[in-house]
Amino acid sequence: AKARGKGQYQAFVAEMDSDFRYRQRLKSDLALAIAQDELKLFYQPLVDLGTRRVAGCEALARWTHPELGPIPPDVFIGLAEETGQISAITRWVLRTATAECVNWPKSVSVAVNVSARDLRGEDLAMHVSEALEASGLAPGRLEIEVTETALIEDREGAAAKLELLAANGIGIALDDFGTGYSSLSYLHGMAFSKLKIDRSFIAGITTSERSLKLMANVARLGRDLDLVLVAEGVETEDQLEAIASHTTIDQVQGFLFGRPMPADETRELIASMNQA
Ligand code: C2E
Ligand code: CA
Ligand code: CA
Ligand code: CA
Repeated sequence: AKARGKGQYQAFVAEMDSDFRYRQRLKSDLALAIAQDELKLFYQPLVDLGTRRVAGCEALARWTHPELGPIPPDVFIGLAEETGQISAITRWVLRTATAECVNWPKSVSVAVNVSARDLRGEDLAMHVSEALEASGLAPGRLEIEVTETALIEDREGAAAKLELLAANGIGIALDDFGTGYSSLSYLHGMAFSKLKIDRSFIAGITTSERSLKLMANVARLGRDLDLVLVAEGVETEDQLEAIASHTTIDQVQGFLFGRPMPADETRELIASMNQA
């Protein structure tokens, strides 16, 4: 038993070591990936529940490593936050997403995720205006998504930065709502225009009365605060039906309407869903 314990420990150390080296390698390769255009931007539709048209699309970064294959965004975005490369990535996402959105019908907006580090640094406002200027996109068609976790570190500073963007007509969405510790406290003193209810809430609404009630009440609260409400992670017709008949949710996003997809497919989907 002792021998096995030791063997397990060594395997654990080896794994830690290889995990460390794996992360180091990804960090240095990520610099190349950014420089060599290896990152791709995918888009996932947000569908208006009333009209069943695409109201906007969320831009989601993809990285296929030439040898290691697809790297999950949670992984490489996390690494990029550690190294500071996130600023360059966010800049690229903003540029790419706004340039793509100008090709869509005027009623369709684009949403870009920003991280904690973006909100701490001084580049975000500059990168946003640079992207809007280069693309010619109206500020009202750009939305910035922030999570509660990204707001924890420097709440006042982040609030001021988001306030400035909002004052310029840019939409601000609170992402993954309900997963943080103090969700409700973020709703005052922040310039949000949209609330995206985390998919962990949606997962239970067809089986649990409590989940459905929770969802309906969050939606009612958001409605009272003049926020646009989004249900994230809608995967089935039953979930959609429950949301439509029991809540005041405005928009739905999830695999039911489309997985994140390349720009050309996004254009086709918008064209087919939004035709007169
Ligand atoms: P997120 O911002 O909450 O993005 C939504 C995630 O949920 C996406 O995962 C999307 O593919 C997934 N999703 C959408 N609909 C469904 C559904 O019906 N069921 C399930 N199970 N999942 C669904 P993805 O693309 O893997 O991204 C993961 C996270 O990585 C994002 O979570 C976001 O926090 C981060 N991320 C992705 N792209 C970027 C980016 O360009 N910049 C930053 N800062 N973060 C990004
Ligand atoms: Ca998001
Ligand atoms: Ca989310
Ligand atoms: Ca998330």
